[in-house]
Amino acid sequence: MSTPEPTPPPNFLRTLIAADVARGAYGGRVVTRFPPEPNGYLHIGHAKAICLNFGLAQEFGGVCHLRYDDTNPETEREEYVAKILELVQWLGFDPRPNVFFASDYFGALYDYANHLIRKGLAYVCDLPDEEISRTRGSVSEAGTPSPYRSRSVAENLDLFARMQAGEFAEGSRVLRAKIDMANPNFKMRDPLLYRIKFAHHYRTGDRWKVYPFYDFAHCLSDAIEKITHSICTLEFENNRELYDWILAGCDIPEPPHQHEFARLNMTYTVMSKRRFLRLVTEGHVDGWDDPRMPTLAGLRRRGVTPEALRHFAERVGVAKANSMVEVELFESTLRDDLNRRAPRAMAVLHPLKVRLLDRTGHDVRGTWFPLDTAAPARFARDKNARVVPMGEALYIDASDFAETPPNGWHRLCPGGVVRLVFGPVIRCELAVRDAAGRITELVCKVLAEGEAKPKGTLQWVDAATAVPAEFRLYDRLVRVEKPTPDDFIDELNPNSLEVVTGLVERAAAQRPDEAHWQFQRVGYFFRDPVAAAEGRLVFNRTTGLREGWKEDASPAPQARLPSTPLRPREVGPPRPLSPQVAARYDALVGRWDIPDAAARTIAASDDTTALFESAVKVASPAATAVFVANVLVGELRSVGREASSVNAAAIGELVALVEGGTIGPAQGKQVLVVLLAEGGDPAEIVSRLGLSKISDPLAITTWLDDVLHRHPAEFERLQAGQGSLLGYFVGQVLKLSGGRADTTAVAAALSRRLKR
Ligand code: ATP
Ligand code: MG
Repeated sequence: MSTPEPTPPPNFLRTLIAADVARGAYGGRVVTRFPPEPNGYLHIGHAKAICLNFGLAQEFGGVCHLRYDDTNPETEREEYVAKILELVQWLGFDPRPNVFFASDYFGALYDYANHLIRKGLAYVCDLPDEEISRTRGSVSEAGTPSPYRSRSVAENLDLFARMQAGEFAEGSRVLRAKIDMANPNFKMRDPLLYRIKFAHHYRTGDRWKVYPFYDFAHCLSDAIEKITHSICTLEFENNRELYDWILAGCDIPEPPHQHEFARLNMTYTVMSKRRFLRLVTEGHVDGWDDPRMPTLAGLRRRGVTPEALRHFAERVGVAKANSMVEVELFESTLRDDLNRRAPRAMAVLHPLKVRLLDRTGHDVRGTWFPLDTAAPARFARDKNARVVPMGEALYIDASDFAETPPNGWHRLCPGGVVRLVFGPVIRCELAVRDAAGRITELVCKVLAEGEAKPKGTLQWVDAATAVPAEFRLYDRLVRVEKPTPDDFIDELNPNSLEVVTGLVERAAAQRPDEAHWQFQRVGYFFRDPVAAAEGRLVFNRTTGLREGWKEDASPAPQARLPSTPLRPREVGPPRPLSPQVAARYDALVGRWDIPDAAARTIAASDDTTALFESAVKVASPAATAVFVANVLVGELRSVGREASSVNAAAIGELVALVEGGTIGPAQGKQVLVVLLAEGGDPAEIVSRLGLSKISDPLAITTWLDDVLHRHPAEFERLQAGQGSLLGYFVGQVLKLSGGRADTTAVAAALSRRLKR
């Protein structure tokens, strides 16, 4: 790397590790770990955790492990495993050879569980899930000991072995730690260690019938890897006591210790794998690596550099209290980095032709970087470093010309004078119009230096040599500062992507080795690697040139040329239908009771009409029509498939699953994506992906307990009769469950809790 990393500022973890090293703890060793669950793509919050863990290890001459925390068989996939390693490496850290999997420890963990049983510290509990939750007590009352708590060691050993042998039904028994049912810390009230699960694990297959819970697996995985400092986010603060208890119970010498830090939250940013899944599967973005996504894959494709991310992680620092970092801090860190890295070139996004009088091909000279900026060594440092061709015809940006300029206009207008970047000063003599009265060309005169004072400086490209390119202008994905966890879809910025075809100077197009560019007066751009691989020239806007660039760069309303294309909008009354469409529409609404808007969409083509009519057999016509019109049509378009290639019967079954409440609408979209990609049976896909709604009482009450425990004040108000809080709590459980909890079951569990 050409630029030195800044010296890291002090933080409490660094101080704490330095003290441990100084007093010779762990023989002076420092071993940290980054433990992602391979159930989705990494995001910028993970980058903070990665930089922290790898950074601290490096600083103290230690190592940092990459450990896949893969103890949930239903949600984890090989695909994510590979992607995670790739992005950790991209960020600048190579964990190899220290790449581990919690699932490799299933055997050892099972032995530790038996060890706890033999010491009388764990027991098999047969209480139904609901009952376990119920007897855990509340914030104000102690829990009730399980009647199975006093089982003999021999009986517990036997039952646990038979749980693993597959003798008992899923959910019929669990292994619990025997701690303290009156402990003020809920996590210590005989927490669950193991559950029976007949699920296929992506690495261990069907070998295991019992799977450890996070609290049991995590601390022991740390111990097995001889981690010294186990750094995690603040949500796990209450789990620390259990972490220590399990390691003590398992007689781990020199046990690791858990330390918590504040997770990264950022304004205008949704940050959770579960929400990304919604964005992707509902088609709000173009995949996990859409440049608008805060995933590392998305940021990389937008042109964010690993260096900028590492600097950002340093700049936000490490705190002990949760807070919200402003996205502007990230953007300014990014601009600092790109400013040093990206050569300057010119591009015109909305070309307007300019003809220069009295000029025939005098090329001009320019620089790749301003002379007062440190530039990468591969660029010559000379004010004549590059030749910029300039013929008699040029293009400027349409937004840089106003026929009737507003006050304070510094760009071109009839009779106005501006300088062209690297070039001469010009005056606009004439605006040429076509038959329709639109301005097609400006005729400008080249002035001698000093003849008139230019109002401003404009970027331009040479008409003879410029190359067409697509520019993807990305903006913030959400338009509100603090997106609401569950309703963020309504808060998405409808204009987060604008695609324009413009022109770029040939010098930039001809340097495929340079990925980052600063197009003067336009922004920082990154050559899209996916398009590049297909031989297309596409530039993704990484970020604007300065804060608030958006307002600054958009022309004043009067300045807009009539010919400037406006983005089509779906507003106003529905457009009249063509005769064929109208005939299909009439037939549809005549035969089926379906919403008008859906009928219009379906009637738009013969194929979708046929698809709908064959799909409608299982679910209700209205639900089928709405799904076909609002979900399927868009999805087909985004994957470039014909409606005629779709298995209509499967679509009908999928709609029935959503309509019957087996899965939520978001899950319906997920199933659809898989169905279109691989075919198959919707019900089977639902079970393979573990998507069905959860009404399992233990799951529901565990979530509910967690929520009640975290919001004691609200719970007291609810108990005191403030019924309006019911919805709040149901919502919180829904959120915690990733939208999968069955709301009826949650409401029922909550009202049972209130009656007690
Ligand atoms: P999310 O809920 O955001 O999708 P996660 O916490 O489920 O993420 P894991 O794979 O469990 O993701 O996380 C791996 C590590 O990254 C954990 O140690 C976790 O504490 C850390 N981490 C996750 N999100 C953040 C964040 N926003 N800021 C800092 N660290 C984070
Ligand atoms: Mg997690």
